[in-house]
Amino acid sequence: MVNERNTTRACSSCGQHTGPSGLRQLVVREWTCECGVTHDRDINAARNILRLGCEPPSAGTRYPSPSPPSQQANALRGRISEDDG
Ligand SMILES: [Zn+2]
Repeated sequence: MVNERNTTRACSSCGQHTGPSGLRQLVVREWTCECGVTHDRDINAARNILRLGCEPPSAGTRYPSPSPPSQQANALRGRISEDDG
């Protein structure tokens, strides 16, 4: 699943979110990034989507780790606090 939320704002050249946002985004078709590259809004968004789709998923998301044994730890803490009283 590709996150398209920032694809119209993110510069496909340098990655900064310098593009038009909100209502301006609807009327601005071209914008120039701080890095000096002028983008067509739709083409820039398409480039970002392509790039995001090609990136491998970040480490840790591919193999969900088993839930930590927090219940055991809580049970242990409960016993300790009881002994304090
Ligand atoms: Zn840029």
